[in-house]
Amino acid sequence: MLYLSTRGHAERKHFCDILLEGLAPDGGLYLPEHYPRFDDARLTQLRELHAREGYAALAHALLSEYIDDIPSDDLLAICRKTYTREVFGTDAIVPLKALEPGLYLEALSNGPTLAFKDMAMQLLGNLFEYELGRRQAELNILGATSGDTGSAAEYAMRGKRGIRVFMLSPHGRMSPFQQAQMFSLQDPNIHNIAVEGVFDDCQDIVKAVSNDHAFKARYKIGTVNSINWARLLAQVVYYFAGYFQATRENTERVSFTVPSGNFGNVCAGHVARQMGLPIEQLVVATNENDVLDEFFRTGVYQVRDSANTWETSSPSMDISKASNFERFVFDLLGRNGDELRGLFGEQLGRTGRFDLSGDARFADAAARYGFVSGKSTHANRLDTIRAVHGQFGVTIDTHTADGVKVAREQAKPGVPMIVLETALPIKFAATITEALGHEPDRPAQFNGIEDLPKRVVVLPADAEAVKQLIEAECR
Ligand SMILES: *Cc1c(COP(=O)(O)O)cnc(C)c1O
Repeated sequence: MLYLSTRGHAERKHFCDILLEGLAPDGGLYLPEHYPRFDDARLTQLRELHAREGYAALAHALLSEYIDDIPSDDLLAICRKTYTREVFGTDAIVPLKALEPGLYLEALSNGPTLAFKDMAMQLLGNLFEYELGRRQAELNILGATSGDTGSAAEYAMRGKRGIRVFMLSPHGRMSPFQQAQMFSLQDPNIHNIAVEGVFDDCQDIVKAVSNDHAFKARYKIGTVNSINWARLLAQVVYYFAGYFQATRENTERVSFTVPSGNFGNVCAGHVARQMGLPIEQLVVATNENDVLDEFFRTGVYQVRDSANTWETSSPSMDISKASNFERFVFDLLGRNGDELRGLFGEQLGRTGRFDLSGDARFADAAARYGFVSGKSTHANRLDTIRAVHGQFGVTIDTHTADGVKVAREQAKPGVPMIVLETALPIKFAATITEALGHEPDRPAQFNGIEDLPKRVVVLPADAEAVKQLIEAECR
């Protein structure tokens, strides 16, 4: 399988080359040349494989369709090492919980940092270590985080050979639990940098360092952001695992609701659907930052500026633009790289928006691709957390609450609805307490985490200071 860029002007490459690369050189995102299409017999084989040998074997079968430059035995070993009960808490890895007949939560947040990003990041860590080992190469991952991504990356890369992580976060602005998760890591290859500024300052520093091409090449700077195809591919697997748990026959269809920000998670659902998984609807749930809901309702994609990007109680969905969205639009418009370059490279840069409302291909989006959407507010989240707790005795986090709220509006009679649970409530304890009047349960391994010694360096919001620290660590 070769990979091409959504903007049509990059050389086609194999998986391991794009694994370490991130954005394509023409500014586009990598996608496979085509999606393998499974028929009924193949779906049955996969269903049986999953039932017999579990999640890691299913992951290996699906990844093998897209990865032809890692020997199959090695890839199987990587999948087996990644998806274990020790790391994800259960043998099912992504167990389905029925709330009521036809309404399920798929638990994706039982990994080390209690958010669904572990599902992909843990695999990425093992793929990186494997490929860097083969190439005798090193990688310095530089990232900015306001919460979930940074900790998922650190827990995935800790102790890995050939990899160092430099993670910038806004000094004093993450929740105590999130700070404790990251800063308590004592692994010598993990570097927490608290920047005296806000999240945007952290992102600006990452951009400034990456734009220093000589520095970037010399110190092998890379990223782990959500546009990495390997992360998306890892997420395709749990759509299959969710479907197989909710159904007995491949004639049954299910819908998924996905709490969405950068469109990475639900884009994996789109890929699964294109591969022939019988998905009825893909429901995109946003919070007040409703860029995506606006698009699916109206056909207008309008990027927000920072004054119009709200800080909400489902903060991992607080985005101004959806960095993976270009992948879906590429498919929607018939995979025309020149057209995509016009929309995302030129028009979006100049005007911050584009409008497909009059385009027949947009009018088809729901029918052909199953996409519908909805949004939720802080008040909706509180109501939903209370209602789910009252009716079913289950405490859900704020992002999952956005999903459940929209799922209930969009569910079709007779079609099971699976809501992806993207985080555990303890990560967002303040809002849970606001809704329920008490703190959510804390998994035992996190007791007292706030009191552990912290490993963090505080730096001014200055790219040069960050570069000096990287230089010193690489000596
Ligand atoms: C990252 C994240 C999301 C949004 O996922 P995208 O792939 O960016 O759409 C939703 N919920 C939680 C808890 C997250 O960490």
